Amino acid sequence: MLQAVTWDSIVAGGGLAGAAFALELARNGRRVALIERTQSAHHKVCGEFLSLEAQDLLTYFDLDISALGATAINEFRLATGERHATISLPFRAAGLSRWSLDEALLTAAERAGVHVVRGARVTSVEPLGAATVVKTETMAWRGKAVALATGKHSLRGLTRPLGSMVGFKLHLSSDSAARTLPGIVQLVFFRGGYFGACLVEENILSIGWVMEAELVRRIGADWPAQKSYLAGQSSFASYLLEGSQPLFAKPVSTAAIPYGFLRTAPIGPAIYPLGDQLAVVPSFTGDGMAIALCSGIVAARAVLEGKSAPVFQREFIRRLRQQFRIAGALGRILQTPASCAVSVAAANFLPRIATKMVSATRLRGVESLTRRGKLQAQAIAG
Ligand SMILES: Cc1cc2nc3c(=O)[nH]c(=O)nc-3n(C[C@H](O)[C@H](O)[C@H](O)COP(=O)(O)OP(=O)(O)OC[C@H]3O[C@@H](n4cnc5c(N)ncnc54)[C@H](O)[C@@H]3O)c2cc1C
Repeated sequence: MLQAVTWDSIVAGGGLAGAAFALELARNGRRVALIERTQSAHHKVCGEFLSLEAQDLLTYFDLDISALGATAINEFRLATGERHATISLPFRAAGLSRWSLDEALLTAAERAGVHVVRGARVTSVEPLGAATVVKTETMAWRGKAVALATGKHSLRGLTRPLGSMVGFKLHLSSDSAARTLPGIVQLVFFRGGYFGACLVEENILSIGWVMEAELVRRIGADWPAQKSYLAGQSSFASYLLEGSQPLFAKPVSTAAIPYGFLRTAPIGPAIYPLGDQLAVVPSFTGDGMAIALCSGIVAARAVLEGKSAPVFQREFIRRLRQQFRIAGALGRILQTPASCAVSVAAANFLPRIATKMVSATRLRGVESLTRRGKLQAQAIAG
């Protein structure tokens, strides 16, 4: 059934990208509907490491991550086998579960006036004359501008290439992690994948890991098999996992992650791809959430300025190119055991260079975006 009303904007997907887009438009007086597949808070595949840029963007939305229980992270430990290097991060990072974070942003969007529909799955997004029609299983919605923010779930006809890696995430209670991981994000690289660990609220150990699909087939996707494989890769992993208890039944997972994907082809004049539907940065950078939030805000501003989706897409991808080039090159080095071991030795010898490499994998231009946004908001208020 086609709704009679035409919305200023409709958002498919209520993750960080979709919620940021909706919130920015609602704050600027637009009528926005957001359609989210899940009924309530849920776990997502993510390392749950919040970069400074991501935190700045959340602060811009007046979200207090400390009040949500975020942990502080100042150091980064890189390990492969038994070799490791611990370096200072160039910024103060944070650990926070997606369960809490995504729900808080969605709630903020709803409070700002976004009409949030939960438990409805978008099945298609198609231009129709001057508008775009968004269909769910039971309804059709008409919007002047539409955001495609369905994350890893692609809609029919709007697919992304299929990558070879599988991603997992699990929360655990771990005494060894509670004792030794505060303030640290740990990355362990091994042949065929890597895993990242940090503490999120209440000293919960959050681990996110990626593995070649072929390796997953060989060892099995269930937690006991994965745990014993990960623990065998490095004593750092084994120490964190020893005596740990999973806090939900089985890891959440996602297959065929298209690392390095940039959606350069336009979808339609008013269909704005955001977050993982626009660009997928290697997970070890811990910058996907910053990109998702930033793309949501920049696309919303494009809508407010009357800039078409293809122009937004082209400009945003230009902003990402250098970051993606560096992250891709670093990924190739770290995922090869011999060159990863050399990198660990180099990080021990030249820690400042390692800290600089972390900076080089960050999203650019966030500061000017939040500053400009604050000035705009003040101008509107004043
Ligand atoms: C293993 C791994 C580790 C990572 N670690 C980090 C990290 O530590 N730090 C970091 O910054 N980034 C990390 N990332 C990246 C980060 O998780 C993503 O870039 C980010 O979640 C993208 O946000 P999004 O809003 O585009 O998508 P999502 O967060 O996936 O949100 C999409 C939303 O759309 C909804 N949806 C899907 N399909 C439909 C539909 N048909 N109709 C309606 N709703 C729909 C979903 O339910 C979901 O809520 C990691 C990624 C992986 C794979």
